[in-house]
Amino acid sequence: MYKEYDVLIIGGGPAGLAAGLYASRSKLKTAIIEERRKPGGQAATTMEMENYPGYPEATGPELMRIFAGHAEKFGCEFIKGAVKEMDLQNSPKIVKTKDGEYRAKAIILATGAEPRTLGLKGEGQFRGRGVSYCATCDADFYTDLDVIVLGNGDAAVEEAIYLTKFVNKVTIVVIHDEGKMDAAKVIQERAYANPKINFIWNSVIEEIQGDELVTGVIVKNIKTGEMTEVSADGVFIFVGTVPRSELVRDLVETTDRGYIKVDKTMETSLPGIFAAGDVTDKYLRQVVTACADGAIAATAAEKYIEEEEGFHRDVVESSMEKPVVVTFWSPAVEESMQIISLLEKYHADKDLKLVSIDVYKNYRISSRHAIKEIPTVTVFIRGEVTQRIDQPGEVEIKDLFSKNN
Ligand SMILES: Cc1cc2nc3c(=O)[nH]c(=O)nc-3n(C[C@H](O)[C@H](O)[C@H](O)COP(=O)(O)OP(=O)(O)OC[C@H]3O[C@@H](n4cnc5c(N)ncnc54)[C@H](O)[C@@H]3O)c2cc1C
Repeated sequence: MYKEYDVLIIGGGPAGLAAGLYASRSKLKTAIIEERRKPGGQAATTMEMENYPGYPEATGPELMRIFAGHAEKFGCEFIKGAVKEMDLQNSPKIVKTKDGEYRAKAIILATGAEPRTLGLKGEGQFRGRGVSYCATCDADFYTDLDVIVLGNGDAAVEEAIYLTKFVNKVTIVVIHDEGKMDAAKVIQERAYANPKINFIWNSVIEEIQGDELVTGVIVKNIKTGEMTEVSADGVFIFVGTVPRSELVRDLVETTDRGYIKVDKTMETSLPGIFAAGDVTDKYLRQVVTACADGAIAATAAEKYIEEEEGFHRDVVESSMEKPVVVTFWSPAVEESMQIISLLEKYHADKDLKLVSIDVYKNYRISSRHAIKEIPTVTVFIRGEVTQRIDQPGEVEIKDLFSKNN
């Protein structure tokens, strides 16, 4: 058994939640499949969320709770489970989790990203036993203890500041020269002013040490090569993220680093498969841009469904009973409107169906039929194009009716 939807969204982070809100508000039967216990994605793992417009004081988990409630209000369903398998080439698209199979007319991939791991000596061994990638999740385990933060971008420095609410001391290991970090200036200034934060400059972590739990790190100065042991109870690593595109790497076009390539409607290289948020190839990976992507993807998915269903119903299915004469037209091309009038004039006593397709509103159907000239008139019989006339005149239209009488 399977459940059917109009739109299925894989991933319940900000991109997926915004897509869920837009799709369900458009009256599409929509569900979000999320593998974690609660939706919210990476945004739900940070308490420092100062830049989502309209919510200057929000924490990540709180904002994500509001997002999820908003999508739910319009009827979006939530399915708990990790998507393991998909068949996206055919219609309907099929998505499988351990517990069930789901089918949909369009799919939005909003699987986001996960923390980059570095493969440092001890990193894997002590993951969850002193090595962490999420301050919100783990900060209180380190109350009054000393921790190291590796990384110097916005997320690293903001999370270091957040950790000072719990810990005794935070040491940020920075690869750059003294006073130089990748984080925004405003965030850097807050870190410099925080008495619980110290810095080790020009350095990387060579090894994470411990017995049962982390006891410290070996820091290497990249300028001098000097190794120093620094004792610590925890190591928080924030050195960027990697896209979670593993499910579709062989199915859709991605960059060398695995980010999914999309067009301006957030559609991937596979028709009807859209992607949104951090998993896509984009300039800025933030909550606000993830939301925008989700909104665009859902709107484009709606248009995709409308266009495909309309063409199937009005042209493919109808042509099983009688020939369908399709005019690819545009309100901007005067001649195309004249051709529609001519077709109506000569059609009166014929057992044919006339359909007009606006090439701009139906760009995918038009490009699939390689429409270059407007108007172009095609005849469909039993789902197949049997005749095509680019830019016909009155003579060709009369001739077309005599052939398909
Ligand atoms: C520590 C930290 C601090 C940050 N601070 C800020 C900030 O202050 N402001 C800001 O704007 N942005 C911030 N960001 C970035 C922001 O969180 C992301 O840009 C945003 O969450 C991306 O949203 P997304 O929906 O694309 O992906 P994600 O948030 O990554 O969500 C993807 C979801 O998909 C789910 N998923 C993945 N694969 C599957 C599968 N196969 N089956 C089912 N579910 C799946 C995941 O479990 C996850 O919930 C921060 C990020 C981090 C890590």
